[in-house]
Amino acid sequence: MTLLLPALQSPTGPAASREAVRFGALSLTYGELAAATALAARIADAGRVAVWATPTPETVIAVVAALRAGVPAVPLNPRTGERELAHILADSEPTAVLAGPDDALPAALEELRRVTVDARAETGRPEGPAASASGPSVTSASAGEADPESPALIVYTSGTTGPPKGAVLPRRAIAASLDALEDAWGWTGDDVLVHALPLFHVHGLILGVLGPLRRGGALRHLGKFSADGVARELGSGGTMLFGVPTMYHRLAEVLDAPAGGTERDALARALAGARLLVSGSAALPAHDHERIAAATGRRVIERYGMTETLMNTGIRADGAPRPGTVGPPLAGVELRLVEEDGTVLEGPEAIGEIQVRGPNLFTGYLNRSDATAAAHTADGWFRTGDVGTVDADGYVTIVGRKATDLIKSGGYKIGAGEIENVLLGHPGVREAAVTGEEDPDLGERVVAWVVAADPGSPPPSEELADHVAAQLAPHKRPRTVHYLDALPRNDLGKIMKRSLHVR
Ligand code: ATP
Ligand code: MG
Repeated sequence: MTLLLPALQSPTGPAASREAVRFGALSLTYGELAAATALAARIADAGRVAVWATPTPETVIAVVAALRAGVPAVPLNPRTGERELAHILADSEPTAVLAGPDDALPAALEELRRVTVDARAETGRPEGPAASASGPSVTSASAGEADPESPALIVYTSGTTGPPKGAVLPRRAIAASLDALEDAWGWTGDDVLVHALPLFHVHGLILGVLGPLRRGGALRHLGKFSADGVARELGSGGTMLFGVPTMYHRLAEVLDAPAGGTERDALARALAGARLLVSGSAALPAHDHERIAAATGRRVIERYGMTETLMNTGIRADGAPRPGTVGPPLAGVELRLVEEDGTVLEGPEAIGEIQVRGPNLFTGYLNRSDATAAAHTADGWFRTGDVGTVDADGYVTIVGRKATDLIKSGGYKIGAGEIENVLLGHPGVREAAVTGEEDPDLGERVVAWVVAADPGSPPPSEELADHVAAQLAPHKRPRTVHYLDALPRNDLGKIMKRSLHVR
């Protein structure tokens, strides 16, 4: 088993002075990060640690220190509500919490031993790390690197379809998934990744922090997402951008401004110059995809993953960019489509549940052997709960989630995403979600939830329904259109369909 983070083992010489992470004005080299994670010694006796996962270098230090100590870390979303936080703490039972010096922790965390992580102090220089300094080397082999099956992180799912479940992720899965992305994207230590993702989920933390660190490359985190920040960092050495669809949507809005504007042109230039623009965590609407391609000549590529499986598929950097698809299975991942009765489906016409198998899979849900068993088939395939198709070249297209995006109406199976994409193409629509509602005749009927581009004059529901029927098919016509001020979304910008109610 190779080390999860070899570049941090004992960096010396030029390797030690390479930049590892930068958050605004604070930058840490590999030497400094390695030195900072000497903190591992202070948590070595903890059974499990919680990490107060703000978008700061302290979170990076805390997670890397826990990995080095071999102590499973549970990243917490600092914006989690009291009830959900209580659930996660009772479920994961951490004995200590790692947090920054200025973090005000909620009462629920007060009983835990608090270990303060201070990026400036941990590197041994109160004024903060200097750009050119090389830190002391760390020579002791870390306990946690020993066993590939030992749990490295316990990451809670996004809670889109129910209360979040703790996915136990061994270092074997993390290493396998990051290596598959290296293969797909030609990701090297020369890459400089730019993002503004939260650091308590797989996307921002495993891909967005451990990804660059595993390669010996750099991460520049924006702290808070802004189109300006993306333009600045990609325009000054950044090579890759990771984002969720809501971020690409905001970039597309800026790019929509007439050419010649300073902000718009700087962003268009920066995106055009990047090596890779990657979207994930939810489907990227076709409309945003097209606007970015038109303004920059660049295709955003999609990859598809889950907390439980890490990454399953992705468009390759050297592959055909096929908008609307999430690409072929990544190296080492087996993927199949399965009918509700368990029949394995073949051929480009088939639509079924996506099931995956491979070294990228988690070991199970914490304290939920029932849910773990229910999520697997007898022969070890993981049921993703997502429905999709696979074309003749192996490219996967996600139709939607079985639970919320598949509408069974009048004998048809209708994917919500397809209708959402068409609604988003209507100039009067800013945001759209489609759900199924019980119907005595049809079984379920198609219902649209729309945020109007101009709330003062929303497009009439008949017009939207006709627009869908004309572009798709009459049976996909929304029977009801609800108008909202905003769609309910979680921290990753995912639409929380279970919170869509008529007010
Ligand atoms: P919960 O499991 O708690 O309901 P969640 O499924 O949203 O929440 P995550 O593990 O963060 O939690 O998200 C994984 C899901 O995100 C996938 O099952 C899939 O539905 C969706 N997803 C991820 N990437 C993509 C993508 N590129 N296109 C479409 N959907 C995606
Ligand atoms: Mg899920």
